[in-house]
Amino acid sequence: MDQFDARSPREVLNLVSTRLGCSPTSGEIANYLDRHDQLKHLREQFLIPKVAELPLADLTLVDGTEECIYFAGNSLGLPPKMAKTYIAEELDKWAKMGVYGHVHGSRPWGWAENTIEELMARIVGAKSAEVALMNGLTVNLHILLLSFYNPTAKRHKILIEDMAFPSDHYAVESQIQLRGYDPKQSMLVMKPRQGEVVLRTEDILETIHKEGDSIAVVLFSGVQYYTGQFFDMAAITKAGQEKGCYVGFDCAHAVGNTELKLHDWGVDFACWCTYKYVNSSAGGLAGAFIHEKNAHSVKPALMGWWGHDMKTRFRMDNKMELLPGVGGYRLSNQPVLLVCPLQASLEVFAMTSIPALRNKSKLLTGYLEYLIQEYFKKDDAHTDKPYVHIITPSNPEERGCQLSLSFSIPILSVFQELQKRGVACDLREPNVLRVAPAPLYNSFSDVHRFITVLRSALATSGPTGQ
Ligand SMILES: *Cc1c(COP(=O)(O)O)cnc(C)c1O
Repeated sequence: MDQFDARSPREVLNLVSTRLGCSPTSGEIANYLDRHDQLKHLREQFLIPKVAELPLADLTLVDGTEECIYFAGNSLGLPPKMAKTYIAEELDKWAKMGVYGHVHGSRPWGWAENTIEELMARIVGAKSAEVALMNGLTVNLHILLLSFYNPTAKRHKILIEDMAFPSDHYAVESQIQLRGYDPKQSMLVMKPRQGEVVLRTEDILETIHKEGDSIAVVLFSGVQYYTGQFFDMAAITKAGQEKGCYVGFDCAHAVGNTELKLHDWGVDFACWCTYKYVNSSAGGLAGAFIHEKNAHSVKPALMGWWGHDMKTRFRMDNKMELLPGVGGYRLSNQPVLLVCPLQASLEVFAMTSIPALRNKSKLLTGYLEYLIQEYFKKDDAHTDKPYVHIITPSNPEERGCQLSLSFSIPILSVFQELQKRGVACDLREPNVLRVAPAPLYNSFSDVHRFITVLRSALATSGPTGQ
């Protein structure tokens, strides 16, 4: 897609439609963009469900033998083909050598996760020693907050965005209580302006500037799961640290989706799950990051044998030789069966680069946005025509691949009609449909097909339908 890299999605679509002599909404455009997609081969690395395999598909409405339109990678990524092979290898090794598997084979269980941390680190823009793969996301958030949140009478607040993912909200609430403070006073929830849904960077920075002296930790998501907004992580980090706060991010929706530079931005700590855009399977091994500048000054509150220096870990002399930085936060040995699918996915990421994925992603999501605006704009002349409003920021730099859509008609029926027609996406209360074309395996034709299906879904569930 090099020839398009410097252009906006709209410019690219106009260019291609002129070249092909067809309308920008024609399916020929999608075919053309797929043919020229330099990452199209990556789709072959994944297993894509067929329409008939989706539990809610209605085969009287759609062809069940086609691949489904999978726009739910923001919730659960698709399986890399090699996942099954790697898991089978480890089951086989277990059967053949039992306990010797800890130190033998291509993926010794004793340090299997260490063998893929370098690949993970590249995706989040970190040094290998700054990243640990372990536990689940919420567990990692808790163990990081236990070190980074040290409330005092003067500085006791945690700043978090309004409508944060519930698990993050509860984690923060319970951490504040654990330290004997009251969430009503110590949990600073940043809301958008009246009548707006996304936060303005200037408002975030101003809040930090105004309230910073009482804030111990600034904790934002990288990409907001509900609105799809990609926060200006570098600016937030700088502003928070200037006021003496620690700054951390939950990168669950940002990892594998946007270009992260956790090290260069000087982020203090971060955590993420790997089952969304990183395709590691439900409940997969999560990630944690602690910047190297904190490696010796910030210590884990809880320790386990896996935080012990590997060289002497198995001497079992109960004299802790703690690994510096995030390594020292490891508690247990890691489940190798979760390392396998994550390895398979990280190897696919290693076949390309995050900037290349982002370039495709901007065009793919821009194409989706363009077609939604073409077909489902609010039409003041025909007021009963259902329309779609995109709440995600329109600037590609302020979002990842996801668009969050709200509708002028009841959303549940739209969602059900889409599912019947072989679309996997998700409905989030109160009224947002999230669609996420993932650049690793989604195509421009997926986007075009989605629009066709959405037109038919809206025609069926609109005021003129039943
Ligand atoms: C997906 C997600 C979670 C889920 O947490 P788990 O501990 O993996 O169950 C938490 N926070 C955010 C922001 C998420 O997007």
